[in-house]
Amino acid sequence: MDSVLKEYGRLQKSGDFGKYVSDIDQLLGALQKARNTINSAPQSRREQLALVKSSTTAFAEKIGNTQKDIHSSLSKYSKALDKKFKIDIETSYNRSAFPPSSRTLLDRAIAMHLIREGHFEPADKLIKDASLSIPDVIEEEFKNMYWILAALRGHDLKPAIDWAASKREKLAAMGSNLEFSLHRLQFIHYLLTTVDEETGEPVNSTRRALQYARENFAPFGERHMASLSKLMCAFLFNSNLEKSPYVNIFLSPSAWDDVAKSFTKEFCSLLGLSSDSPLYLAAAAGAIALPTLLKVGTIMREKHTEWSSENELPVEIPLPESMFQFHAIFVCPVSKEQTTDENPPMMMPCGHIVAKESLGRMSKGNPNQRFKCPYCPNESIPNQAIRVYF
Ligand SMILES: [Zn+2]
Repeated sequence: MDSVLKEYGRLQKSGDFGKYVSDIDQLLGALQKARNTINSAPQSRREQLALVKSSTTAFAEKIGNTQKDIHSSLSKYSKALDKKFKIDIETSYNRSAFPPSSRTLLDRAIAMHLIREGHFEPADKLIKDASLSIPDVIEEEFKNMYWILAALRGHDLKPAIDWAASKREKLAAMGSNLEFSLHRLQFIHYLLTTVDEETGEPVNSTRRALQYARENFAPFGERHMASLSKLMCAFLFNSNLEKSPYVNIFLSPSAWDDVAKSFTKEFCSLLGLSSDSPLYLAAAAGAIALPTLLKVGTIMREKHTEWSSENELPVEIPLPESMFQFHAIFVCPVSKEQTTDENPPMMMPCGHIVAKESLGRMSKGNPNQRFKCPYCPNESIPNQAIRVYF
């Protein structure tokens, strides 16, 4: 693999088309200058033309050399690739998986992927050329999402907060904490910033953060009291947050990325889409499976066997859990919170399911206390409830 990477590095270095452009720009500049000089002083024509001739020859040589460099690096790179990857991928390619009739589906998957990745121009071109019917509203939504994400990258939370507020009920029904997370990050950002972003004037960070908390935290008091208490206690350590017990909350290096990720996830969920592009996931799973499938293909050819089960792989291919495990979410009907490993869904003997914390609250923290199911007349005790895995 080293030889491939080496040639790739060389190609990147020499394949810089910017050099072409700047050389040509320089040549155009020289020609323009000669023309202006001749216009204003026609007697210098002969001298100027001689100059133009010599500079054109020099530039042509320079441009030719750049081109030669690129071609030579490109051919070395492709040779290194051919040497490294000798196996013919065609052997594990199932042509019948993509019959001509599925062409539109494939085009649609690619167009949707481009939209989801924010490549709107090529997406529009593909939609037009392949006459796909993808509602304009999807592209508009993703444009809005990328606009909000760009603001987030610039540490401007307002567009994301406005969006979350406008979707408050839907987000709450999903058990999302996004709106609170955004406000919390804004509070932390204010506490850590001593200069006003808009005016560039110094600000009293503590006062600004406290003001923000007063104006925005009230609606979250009931559900996020524990988090709010931590945020408020952090004021005590304002001058020395690095050594405070709250260092992870206030100085988390991934805070902005985490919020951007959860925003993207919730945004896609409300559109009824997964947060990762399905085409990306399919291609990634394929790339992981390919080496194994190529090996199996070689063995089967050597032993003259065939795999006859249709639509089934001849070997098991484990995919990394972090990316390829999909779980349904469960929102407790009592607390309206999404269940987690710490607060898992529990099924009572009557079959109704609530979060473990709700179970605790209904039985006043006593595992043997009888209580009535909030959804049916049955009574039970917390110890009879069992954990449910989705
Ligand atoms: Zn019940």
